[in-house]
Amino acid sequence: MKTIGLIGGMSWESTAAYYRLLNEEARARLGGLHSAQILLYSVDFEPIEQLQHQGDWEGAARILTKAALRLQDGGADFFLICTNTMHRVAPLVEAAVRIPLLHIADPTAESLLAKGVQTVGLLGTAFTMEQEFYRGRLEQRHGLEVVTPSRADRRIVHDIIYQELCQGKIRQAAKSAYLRIIGELAGRGAEAVILGCTEIGLLVKQEDSAVPLYDTTALHAVRAMELALTAKPGASAPSL
Ligand code: GLU
Repeated sequence: MKTIGLIGGMSWESTAAYYRLLNEEARARLGGLHSAQILLYSVDFEPIEQLQHQGDWEGAARILTKAALRLQDGGADFFLICTNTMHRVAPLVEAAVRIPLLHIADPTAESLLAKGVQTVGLLGTAFTMEQEFYRGRLEQRHGLEVVTPSRADRRIVHDIIYQELCQGKIRQAAKSAYLRIIGELAGRGAEAVILGCTEIGLLVKQEDSAVPLYDTTALHAVRAMELALTAKPGASAPSL
């Protein structure tokens, strides 16, 4: 089994979900006492959140690059950044290490395409919904059409992420707001909706919605375990 490197803590609420999902996947695939071989570097999120909102992405990239180098030095075979938003700096982090990054948007897009989805709604932080690094990858690399909420609803989705979900607050009012917004995206042609923030799955579950939901945390974790098990023994790195 390959060692999976995780850059977590953004927020730790969702990193805890990654830890559980990876281990559940190892048990489902291997049985018995098998569990995932993981190296976790968990950052202090507060300074990173400040850099994000100041637009200092290079400063944030420096913190993540240090973490990625530690994972590499510790023997991780490949690594995950356990947040959609921080993929904003993925190219800088990837360029600084030899081990490959499993980009969170790729397993998500591939799952959508496998189900024949062409037009997809996207929920996440304002950075994820509005900037090119994420929707551009879905559109240009994977050929999906991406629909995002109205400006006012993007603000609601963003604020709930930072003020509630990343602080462990799961409230019915937030869930109702998300379900309303998911319904509106479907009304505008979205055949499915990406939960493009790693905490949203803590709030909204598939059973809450008739619209198919694609939880990036779960899809990222399952693909990571698949890679950890399918990479050839002795190979230096799995091909991503
Ligand atoms: N975990 C969130 C995401 O997936 C938001 C926190 C962050 O800004 O990294 O985008």
